[in-house]
Amino acid sequence: MKRILSGIKPTGAPHLGNYFGMMKPAIELQSQGEAYYFIADYHALTTVRDPQAMRDNTRGVALDFLACGLDPEKATIFRQSDVPEHTELAWILSCVTPMPMLENCHAYKDHVAKGKVPDHGLFAYPVLMAADILIYDSNIVPVGRDQKQHVEVTRDLASVMNRLYGKKEPLFVMPEASILPQVATVIGLDGQKMSKSYNNTVPLFEAEKPLRKKIMSIVTDSTPVEAPKDPANSSIVALYKLFASAADVEKMEADFRAGGQGYGVFKQRLFDALWEYFRPFREMREQLAADPGYVDSVLRAGAAKARAVAAKTMDRVRLATGLR
Ligand code: ADP
Repeated sequence: MKRILSGIKPTGAPHLGNYFGMMKPAIELQSQGEAYYFIADYHALTTVRDPQAMRDNTRGVALDFLACGLDPEKATIFRQSDVPEHTELAWILSCVTPMPMLENCHAYKDHVAKGKVPDHGLFAYPVLMAADILIYDSNIVPVGRDQKQHVEVTRDLASVMNRLYGKKEPLFVMPEASILPQVATVIGLDGQKMSKSYNNTVPLFEAEKPLRKKIMSIVTDSTPVEAPKDPANSSIVALYKLFASAADVEKMEADFRAGGQGYGVFKQRLFDALWEYFRPFREMREQLAADPGYVDSVLRAGAAKARAVAAKTMDRVRLATGLR
């Protein structure tokens, strides 16, 4: 049976990019193998420095994920820091990680390019991520395109470790990223990649009024109401495609070309489709939130299962490296 693994950082409310890039594919995969999904709080420490925000976001992200259909009966869902073996393996991997491999990683490079001083956690981020993946002998890693490079680092480190310590039999399984081409990058309200760090997100469970306001704020060009509009370069159409049927998308594209309707009308249609799409998840979220202990109990049970697997891998790694 294939092992499937992915993580999401508790850095804020999950948004459409997270959902279509990672959460939805992960939820679909939960019945096709043995799935491990975790809230990457160790990774979030590189940016979240408010302890209460860390706690609240961790529960919030878990709750959103469960509301969207993550089934704790099928997948193991846990908090990364409940399995401290991840950091132990990260240290071992870091001892065979060439600095240039990390200097080449985009999160670090972007940070430096902006003139900011990176801390060691940000620099070593991909090594911890490799540990997350390798410690569960993961085969498939569903992620958005921005994580592709990190999975490549993971594969490189698995190769190095196998070469050094896996002469008789490979120490680690070679993981593979699973990236859906049609949703590899969901764009945000301003036309850039949707990301919590760009403040351009559409959170999945925003209340109706602020959500409508956000959709209405999607940046458009200044084509007048009467004029035909180009659906190919429109963020409205790109987002609409995520929820609407092929027929509805065709209809919106035709209406764009026909002219006579302003962007506001199309934004309203997008809002309606979005609101309907998440209606069942919203209802589920309300039900789950009514039991305040639910999320914690799911995370606790998940941690016990995950830790048993991680501990076994670490026994193997300690033996192979001579730590035991
Ligand atoms: P953010 O960029 O908002 O901080 P994360 O880094 O927590 O999001 O990403 C969690 C998961 O969601 C990753 O697998 C990532 O690739 C995916 N993801 C994030 N933003 C997008 C996007 N705009 N389009 C597609 N996938 C995305």
